[in-house]
Amino acid sequence: MRALRRFTVRAQLPAPLQPLQTLAMNLRWTWHPPTQDLFASLDHQAWERSGHDPVRVLGEISSARFAELAADAETVVTVRELADDLAAYLGEPRWYQVENEDDPNLPEAVAYFSMEFGVSEVLPNYSGGLGVLAGDHLKAASDLGVPLVAVGLLYRSGYFRQSLALDGWQVETYPVLDPQGLPLHLLTDESGAPTLVSVNMPGGRVLNARVWRAAVGRVPLLLLDSDIEENDADLRGVTDRLYGGDQDHRIRQEILVGVGGVRAVRAFCAASGHPVPRVFHTNEGHAGYLGLERIRELQDAEGLDFDEALAVVRAGTVFTTHTPVPAGIDRFPLDMVRHYFDDSAKAHALLPGVATDRVLALGAEENPSMFNMAHMGLRLAQRANGVSKLHGAVSRGMFGDLWSGFDTTEVPIGSVTNGVHGQTWEAEEVTALIGPPAPHPAALEGDGPSDALLWDLRTSLRTRLVGEVRRRVREAWLQRGASVPELSWTDHVFDPDVLTVGFARRVPTYKRLTLMLRDPDRLRDMLLDPYRPVQLVVAGKAHPADDGGKALIQQIVRFADDPAVRHRIVFLPDYDMSMARYLYWGCDVWLNNPLRPLEACGTSGMKSALNGGLNLSIRDGWWDEFYDGANGWAIPTADGVDDPHRRDDLEANALYELLATQVAPAFYDRTEGVPHRWVELVRHTLTTLRPQVQATRMVREYVEDWYSPAARAARRIATDDFAPAREVAAFRTRLNAAWPSVKVVGVDASGLPDTPVVGAPMTVRAVVALAGLDPTDVAVEAVVGRVGETDELTETVTVPMKHVGPVDGAEPDGAERFEAGVQLPHAGLTGYTVRVLPHNPLLASPVELGKVVLAG
Ligand SMILES: *Cc1c(COP(=O)(O)O)cnc(C)c1O
Repeated sequence: MRALRRFTVRAQLPAPLQPLQTLAMNLRWTWHPPTQDLFASLDHQAWERSGHDPVRVLGEISSARFAELAADAETVVTVRELADDLAAYLGEPRWYQVENEDDPNLPEAVAYFSMEFGVSEVLPNYSGGLGVLAGDHLKAASDLGVPLVAVGLLYRSGYFRQSLALDGWQVETYPVLDPQGLPLHLLTDESGAPTLVSVNMPGGRVLNARVWRAAVGRVPLLLLDSDIEENDADLRGVTDRLYGGDQDHRIRQEILVGVGGVRAVRAFCAASGHPVPRVFHTNEGHAGYLGLERIRELQDAEGLDFDEALAVVRAGTVFTTHTPVPAGIDRFPLDMVRHYFDDSAKAHALLPGVATDRVLALGAEENPSMFNMAHMGLRLAQRANGVSKLHGAVSRGMFGDLWSGFDTTEVPIGSVTNGVHGQTWEAEEVTALIGPPAPHPAALEGDGPSDALLWDLRTSLRTRLVGEVRRRVREAWLQRGASVPELSWTDHVFDPDVLTVGFARRVPTYKRLTLMLRDPDRLRDMLLDPYRPVQLVVAGKAHPADDGGKALIQQIVRFADDPAVRHRIVFLPDYDMSMARYLYWGCDVWLNNPLRPLEACGTSGMKSALNGGLNLSIRDGWWDEFYDGANGWAIPTADGVDDPHRRDDLEANALYELLATQVAPAFYDRTEGVPHRWVELVRHTLTTLRPQVQATRMVREYVEDWYSPAARAARRIATDDFAPAREVAAFRTRLNAAWPSVKVVGVDASGLPDTPVVGAPMTVRAVVALAGLDPTDVAVEAVVGRVGETDELTETVTVPMKHVGPVDGAEPDGAERFEAGVQLPHAGLTGYTVRVLPHNPLLASPVELGKVVLAG
């Protein structure tokens, strides 16, 4: 008989073991090995059976066993100590609290919105790097004491499970999550009834969601769940799965996470006394509707109009883009957005009082029938960033049209390079041997462990990976239909002494899973080299709708199925956090060969580096800025070769060459069993890279350079009953009216000798028709730089020009004179021009509004 429904009943714990409940429910255990050890010790088999899930372990232990444990003094003491340790972690002042003493500008709280969160495999609410990054962001924020409230959706089917058919084709299954069996608490009101968040849908319908709260250390993570009786059947399915379904399904999800998410934050703060966020961080465009709900709030509660509310929202919003290709950007048909945000239904509109045409304008792009979520993200945030230096530059190019008239380098999109949560991704043994990372990065050199000890560490991590590979290969074959007697060979897959290369990631085309197969014979030779063999572990999931990606996986699987090589190359199905950990710990080399510059950052290589793995990668994303010649290898990119086949050939060839001539020799050249050159690279990686790739470094950057200025701006714009917001809105209205008529009427320069030399002074003068604007409303700049044949200015130097007064008599209506002394910055052909920008102390930069008038 099959059960119609299932649910989890929580165990009744004997009093001395009560704290186990708290220890299981706070996800801090996921990065606290002593707590993991405690749960494993309660019942080793249950620990393994549950896939290392404390909540499930507690559900499986019998009352008799609990009674036994409660009578065991050592267990009881450990439980109490770990509970005390957790309480201390949750309550003590951490970096943020200490920092706050000096900097009262830090925000009281920050709301962090994301479509996915990969905190742990026991809460598989993610589908790849974006989610895992968000999870690491929360953990690092918790460690630093940053008062973050995170918001997302709880999907009924989490991350899909991948298995393989006999022919190597990916098969997906969607396990159904039971929230009662997850480390989640339901948000309730004072009477104990579930708090419901609701958003209006077209046709007078309402989409309701309950709110689950996970505790990620100190950080509450609110997850909205639409699968409740109060909803119509189709609306119950809104949170059924991540990135499944059509666009209509998706826009409902994004409306729920954005609009419903803000409402959930309000309900949570009211119920718990958590400080109210002043800063909102939109992690990728999906959650961007949160800005519209905040506009509605400000219109309703503060009596602001749309433009004034927009100014307030912009001041406190940080937008992070993760997408380096236009095709990857989230867009909706304009009519679909109009359908949901239609304001004509008055009180029953999704956002009553928020004008539909204003909403639609925020997502405008080149194609007038599409609504662009990234464009809306940029228009709703005063501060925006990409996720590595290179990606910042790519984003400035990609979104440059929103700031037309400015050079790409001036586009106001910065970057914060991603990081990874050290305690989550670093093997315990690494930390035990070399201590926690930073603030003493020098400890490894000189006084650090000997080469032999570091090498032993690497060997033991590789050996553990080999055991895991064998176990998984065997399981995969059983699932593909093999029988036990056929599988004795799997006990000999991989060798703990062979150079181990890992490649694991999602399988979109740009990551080029199969580049290594470009020349199959050459790869085979390397795997089977009698002296310097290489073994290769590959993993990754293709999007369920991506048959192209599945075909790539099948190609790898077929190659690896060959009995001649199957002991040296494996494809492990079902890549997720629990498998990834073994790979990051054990691989000697982490391979990454994306099509540059399509990898926004990439974080798996960082996780490998934490464990002394060496990166072998195209210089894309993070590796473009962190490769230093002594921490791994850079595969030369044929960036610029237009023929994709030729580019693949060139890059694959470079990869094989590097492996054969650099990587393998360094690994196999030994003195008394130790490859000193290799260990040098490992030591350098652990010394220099490990501190820099930490998520705490990333979150600190966000706090100092993004959240803090946003909090300051948000506070300032709300003073005097939002007078500055009214001022910004009035300023923008004034600008919009006058701007088309603003002109640089005349420019001249004087003071130069016949043959000027570098550094010579020059006076630039300009007359600007301001069309009724006040001279203080604009910044006039002289721009000097090199010129080439096209007169395009490069290597420019910008000098602010002073307002010297109105033009006497003759000039009509508001022409003003400006001037500046400029020193010639370069030798050679030099040119200059003059430009006019908006100026207002409430702008983050004069570029912000995308308005500029150039001379000529
Ligand atoms: C780190 C991680 C990723 C992201 O890796 P990339 O290098 O950014 O592709 C994806 N999935 C899992 C399980 C991870 O741990």
